[in-house]
Amino acid sequence: MITVVEALKRLVTLVEPGPEEIVPLHLAAGRVLARPVEAARDQPPFAASAMDGYAVQTAGLAPGARYRVIGEAAAGHRFSGMVGAGEAVRIFTGAPLPQGAQHVVIQEDVKRDADGMIVVTEVDPKTHIRPSGSDFKRGEVIAAPRRLSPADVALLASMNHPLVPVRRKPVVAVISTGDELVMPGQNPRDDQIIASNCFGLKALLEESGAAVRILPIARDTIPALQMVFELALTADLIVTIGGASVGDHDLVAKAGKSLGMQQSFYKVAMRPGKPLMAGRIKDTPMIGLPGNPVSSMVCGHVFLTPVIRHMLGLPAEQTRHTLAPLVCAIARNGPREHYMRASFSNGQLTPFDRQDSALLSVLAQANALLVRPPHAPALGAGAEVPYILL
Ligand code: AMP
Ligand code: MG
Repeated sequence: MITVVEALKRLVTLVEPGPEEIVPLHLAAGRVLARPVEAARDQPPFAASAMDGYAVQTAGLAPGARYRVIGEAAAGHRFSGMVGAGEAVRIFTGAPLPQGAQHVVIQEDVKRDADGMIVVTEVDPKTHIRPSGSDFKRGEVIAAPRRLSPADVALLASMNHPLVPVRRKPVVAVISTGDELVMPGQNPRDDQIIASNCFGLKALLEESGAAVRILPIARDTIPALQMVFELALTADLIVTIGGASVGDHDLVAKAGKSLGMQQSFYKVAMRPGKPLMAGRIKDTPMIGLPGNPVSSMVCGHVFLTPVIRHMLGLPAEQTRHTLAPLVCAIARNGPREHYMRASFSNGQLTPFDRQDSALLSVLAQANALLVRPPHAPALGAGAEVPYILL
């Protein structure tokens, strides 16, 4: 049995960052930028007015100064003349500052009359001008890798990039295994249950940036598992659910081996999730998750999320554990790292009483996993413990 840290290290060596692809800007949010992108122009490309008002020279600007209004500059409509002494150009936000002007007097600070305008207040020391290139300059870089936020997409647009180089989404084939499983919406017999994990994992994997295919449920026979494995081999990663323990009907490892699977490890010192396995089937990396719903989802958070990050070219750092105080006492931990379902609120952690790895309803209520290292001692209320937010 290996540790969680060791398992993650080995998983990351099984997968590689995928190739780059070009996507249109409007589909770039959430994708991972594959290489640095440079601004194709300055922004703003000209000194621009930040307010509605009057563009004037700084010299002579004082309360009571009178100006002749010689023209207008609006956004998208430059005033092509010069602003001389005693002259003003009516200007609006976003308009290029006319030549000769160094200051925008805001319209609230002047009075208009038939001949022009008079400054009626103290002079605002702010010029209300956005210098050319004050947001970014041509050649300025957005560094990669980087998961693109909505603001990044706006920035790329502003830099005049209609197409964006991103890392292709890793394709993950998810295989449920078990004679007892039927798809949601079917009429289960009373000895059957609904396949749930594949949908939870699909959502989790997609949140991490993968493209997910849910494959047909494999029955607990070697030929059925071989058949579904063959269907999955074109994916970048195969994730199986269930059939990973040592029971008579746990055939995932056997079926994998019959197709030449090279095993990287089997069993991790964690709770839930001990019967985790990983390897390669005909060059396709494979991760075998335990079938219990909570085990598979916890393994998803602890292992699949970092693996997908690595496949996207991002650092695969383990989900960061922050500390928070316990609301109640907890017992000492055994030899396996325990990921306890917990509620985090008001800065404090309360583990749920029921920690059975079959209880999806408890996982759905939990918003945190309290992490208990192997052999951690019993702790009283108020003790600080590491946790992962879900
Ligand atoms: P196994 O690892 O195949 O022995 O499965 C452990 C438990 O998880 C059993 O109670 C299974 O019925 C259940 N299980 C396995 N796969 C799934 C699945 N895809 N969705 C929901 N429950 C599952
Ligand atoms: Mg099974």
